Amino acid sequence: MRTVTAYATPAAKAPFEKTTIERRDLGPNDVLIKIAFAGICHSDIHTGREEWGKVHFPLVPGHEIAGTIEEIGSDVAGFSVGDRAGVGCMVDSCRECENCKAGEEQYCLKGNIGTYDGVGRDGRPTDGGYSTHIVVDENYVLHIPDGIELDVAAPLLCAGITLYSPLRHWQAGPGKKVAIVGMGGLGHVGVKIAKALGAEVTVLSQSLRKEVDGKRFGADHYYATSERGTFRELRGTFDLIVNTVSAALPMQQYLSLLKLDGTMVNVGAPAQPLEVPAFALIPMRRSWAGSMIGGIRETQEMLDFCAEHGIGAEIEKISGEQIDEAWDRVVDSDVRYRFVIDTATFAS
Ligand code: NAP
Ligand code: ZN
Repeated sequence: MRTVTAYATPAAKAPFEKTTIERRDLGPNDVLIKIAFAGICHSDIHTGREEWGKVHFPLVPGHEIAGTIEEIGSDVAGFSVGDRAGVGCMVDSCRECENCKAGEEQYCLKGNIGTYDGVGRDGRPTDGGYSTHIVVDENYVLHIPDGIELDVAAPLLCAGITLYSPLRHWQAGPGKKVAIVGMGGLGHVGVKIAKALGAEVTVLSQSLRKEVDGKRFGADHYYATSERGTFRELRGTFDLIVNTVSAALPMQQYLSLLKLDGTMVNVGAPAQPLEVPAFALIPMRRSWAGSMIGGIRETQEMLDFCAEHGIGAEIEKISGEQIDEAWDRVVDSDVRYRFVIDTATFAS
């Protein structure tokens, strides 16, 4: 075991405390990553505040991890000391079920092992990226291409893949009209990726406050859902809508924006149920779907795609002491557009 510094929340809604945690000794296939940056995902907050159910405390969240390899196990083949590496939302899965074999480990039939608040193969609880080091099996570690700085790469490990996967699955590309609902951490990366895939991109935000940024990220159109007339004007417009909103929206209104055979994908994961009347789907043969992160192979593909297209997250770097404030700002939709914790600040 090795003792490393981390920030943990001791109970739901309790402030973060600087503490130490134990990381396991390296197994033959493990790598030790020195974490440089960890993004703050809204899922950290849903989890840490027990909005999705009970969790195991103290909780060290963080599943948007970027750093460098500091040590490798005896059988590690894909990484060398000094390599730039990333870890996303899962650190293991059964590797045997049909979904794992298909490279869709996030949908492992036995349940993937979460980067935090999971139970590792060694039976110990997993701790996430709000810490200086992490030990992970190399099969669940990604290569961060040279073209992307580690700080703006970190959020791609969750936000990036969570948008890339459905955009690819539902074939966002030239000739397709894609809407992204909510321009926060997930949404802003989604705008960039959808644009790079060649789609015509519209942002549906609560207000026009971030319109200039949205256009800079590549949006062709930007609408405020709070403005009267937006839903009427856009009725039947989109092939694909990706809803990234962390709160429950009136689905019927948003579904009305899909054209014939259009699909609405929920990646936002509010604690409250979403209401979908049958007649929001029936008239235009609409589909309503969900999507969860992406597999390891697809996550690497996403990172390579982002490097090729010069895509990183827009970030605000914070210290370990600013995590509580950052969480409140995320909940208030006051984030531009991802908080990234700089673990160098843990030393002070
Ligand atoms: P975020 O940075 O807080 O972004 C969410 C955005 O939704 C906000 O910036 C805001 O955008 C909009 N929004 C928030 N509250 C709203 C409300 N009451 N009404 C309308 N719009 C509202 O969060 P995030 O990190 O992107 O995560 C978003 C959601 O995705 C969370 O629920 C998270 O748990 C989930 N998630 C899912 C997956 C997955 O695999 N499916 C992966 C990661 C995260 P505007 O200001 O532009 O309106
Ligand atoms: Zn996340």
